[in-house]
Amino acid sequence: MRLFPLFADLRGRRVLVVGGGAVAERKIKSLLASGALVTVGTPEVTATLEQLQAQNRIQRLNGHFHPDWLADIWLVVAATDDRELNRRIAELADTQRLFINVVDDPELSSFQVPSIVDRSPLTIAISSAGSAPVLARRVRERIETLFDHTLGSLATLAARYRPAIRQARPELRPRREFYDWLLDGPVAAALRSQQPEQAARLLEQALDQPQAAVSGKVLLVGAGPGDPGLLALKALRALNEADVILHDRLVDTAILELARRDAEQIPVGKIPGEDHNATQARIHALMLEHAQQGQLVVRLKGGDAFVFGRGGEELEFLRAHQIPYEVVPGITAALACAAYAGIPLTHRDHAQSVRLITAHCREDTMIEDWPALAQPHQTLAFYMGVSQLDRVAAQLMDHGRSGDTPFAIIENGTRPSQRVLHGVLKDMGQLAREHQIKAPALLLIGEVTALGPTLEWFGAGIPAR
Ligand code: SAH
Repeated sequence: MRLFPLFADLRGRRVLVVGGGAVAERKIKSLLASGALVTVGTPEVTATLEQLQAQNRIQRLNGHFHPDWLADIWLVVAATDDRELNRRIAELADTQRLFINVVDDPELSSFQVPSIVDRSPLTIAISSAGSAPVLARRVRERIETLFDHTLGSLATLAARYRPAIRQARPELRPRREFYDWLLDGPVAAALRSQQPEQAARLLEQALDQPQAAVSGKVLLVGAGPGDPGLLALKALRALNEADVILHDRLVDTAILELARRDAEQIPVGKIPGEDHNATQARIHALMLEHAQQGQLVVRLKGGDAFVFGRGGEELEFLRAHQIPYEVVPGITAALACAAYAGIPLTHRDHAQSVRLITAHCREDTMIEDWPALAQPHQTLAFYMGVSQLDRVAAQLMDHGRSGDTPFAIIENGTRPSQRVLHGVLKDMGQLAREHQIKAPALLLIGEVTALGPTLEWFGAGIPAR
C-alpha cells in the first residue's frame, strides 16, 4: 500500500490554499464543508471566492506566496498553475513537516485527496495513489450506484442507537448480526420508502426482542427488455442482494450475470406441455417456500412486471400469505422497442395517445374494442402478437383504419440481434412471413412508426459518423 488512508478532523484547524482559480475554489468548498478554517493566498480570486471572503467564510492573503504564510497552519493545498512555485511551496512545507497536496501532482504531494462517495456520516474514499485518477473516478461511479442515499440516514440512525444496541447485544457476534439485519432488513427498506419514524420503530422493536426474527421478502423486479443498461439502479441493487432469483426465460443472461455470485438462480418459465395456471402455481409455491425460509427472493420478470406480466396475481398471492414485498418497475417492451427503433410513441403531429394491448387474452375476457382501436392519430402497441398479425390487420381495416397505415415490428428489441420491419397494414402478415419474424417481437401501428427509418440509431441502420 503506497499511501496510508486517513480521515482528518479539520474542524477549527487552519488550512492554507495557495491559488485562487477554479481548482482552488473546488478544494476550498470541500474544506469548508468539513469545518476547516481556510486561508487563501493569491493575487487574484474567482467571483465565488470573493463572495466567500466578503461573507467572512474564508481569510485572504493578498499577493504572491510568502514563506510566512505557512505559520500556524495544519495543512497546505497548492493549486497554482506555476509548477516551480508549487515545488517551492512543497519543499518549504516539507521542511516544516506540514502535509501538502499539490493538485494533480502526486510527485510533489505528501497527501492526496481521494474520490469520495458521500453518504454522510458514512464516507467512502477511493484512491489510486495518484496513478490513475480516472480509474478511481470510475470506481466511485460504480460505488455510487451500489448504495442509495438512504445509507446516510441509516448510518445516522445507527449512530443514534449505538449505545442502546451495545447494551442490548453486549456480545460481538449477535451485535454484528444485528447490524447486518439493520443494513439488509426492514429498517433500511423503511428508510428507502421515506418512512423514518417507521424505521426507528422497527429498530426499537427488534432491540426489545431477544433475537431479531429473520423475515423473508419478495422483490418483484422488472428486468427491462434485454439491454442490461436499461436496468433501474434499484433492480441492480436487488440482484446484488438476492438469496434466490426466480426468473422468466425472457430475461437476458447478461442481466443474470450481474447477480450476486452465490445467489441461487431458478428459471421459472413455462415448461413445454404445462398450462399457464400450472406454471403460475409453481412460481407461487417457490416464492412462498424461499421467503418463509427467511430469504430475500427476487422475482425477475422481462420488461415491467405490471405490464402483461402477471405481477398483480403474484402480489395478491403474497399478500394473502402475508409475505412482505416491494416492486421495482422495469422498462416495458413498448417503451424500449420504440426508443431503440427511433419511433416516438407520441408526436404532436401524429399521435396523441398510446395503447398497450395484448394480442392474447383469456377467452372469457376477450373485449377488444376494434372500432376504438381503428381510430387514427393514436399509436397501438401489441404485445405477443406475432401469430395474430393477419387477424389484427384485418380487424383494423374492417373497422375503418386505412390499409396504408404504417407499422413497425421490432424483434428482439434492444438486443444486439434486434431487427425492425417497416411496412403498411395491408401487407403486414405477408411481410412478416417473408422475413420470418419470430417472438419476442413487438408490433407498433400508427403514423409515428413512419418516422423510424429516419430517426433510427441502434443496430445496422446507424448512419456513419
Ligand atoms: N412484461 C413484459 C411483457 C411480457 S409479454 C414487458 O413489460 O415488456 C411478452 C411480450 O412482450 C412478447 O411477446 C413481445 O411482444 C414483448 N417483448 C418483450 N421483450 C421484448 C423484446 N426485447 N423485443 C420485442 N418484444 C418484446
